[in-house]
Amino acid sequence: MTPLALATVFAGCYAALCWLKPFGRCRRCRKSGVRPRLITRRLTVCRACKGAGLRLRHGRRAFNYLARIHADAQTARAARQNLGGPR
Ligand SMILES: [Zn+2]
Repeated sequence: MTPLALATVFAGCYAALCWLKPFGRCRRCRKSGVRPRLITRRLTVCRACKGAGLRLRHGRRAFNYLARIHADAQTARAARQNLGGPR
């Protein structure tokens, strides 16, 4: 298997993972939702995931960003056509 084919398979698997399971485990609190304070060691809500214990995967975050750009472009294009102005 060539490196390019291997990279394509890996990218496809990661895209499928991001599509099927968009949330991964929070690395800071390891899905518990709480973290000990630095000095007092008292347990407080994890600031990285706000207590959910989950985080959005980077691939899913990129997909959501691109989908939002695409939707905004479609809205702007429709508004431009409704006005009848220059393209
Ligand atoms: Zn967390």
